[in-house]
Amino acid sequence: MSDSEPPRRKILSLKSGVAAPGGPPPLERIPRPAGAKRVVLRAPEPPPPAPPPPTGDFKCKPCGTRFDPPSELADEESVRCPSCNARLGLAGDFRADPPRVEKLRARYLKK
Ligand SMILES: [Zn+2]
Repeated sequence: MSDSEPPRRKILSLKSGVAAPGGPPPLERIPRPAGAKRVVLRAPEPPPPAPPPPTGDFKCKPCGTRFDPPSELADEESVRCPSCNARLGLAGDFRADPPRVEKLRARYLKK
């Protein structure tokens, strides 16, 4: 009667087949530096829209700003440059067809 049976030792088998030869290489773990920010790839922002081309049929002689005479002005009212506020002539002279540029301090750009 044997009361001291020796415990069965588990035999760790290191048989072949544990690591298949030619298998995938172990993944290399790249340590991330502590505190490194996660780089979020963002889509590049669209370029700002191009400024609208200068419009206006007239050009202020004193400062060169292009403008259109305001249509709400009465004929006897003065048109002022939207930029330098110079009096450029009467609205009626601007609206004449052709504009009476000889009375205006503005150049008519439309031919
Ligand atoms: Zn002006």
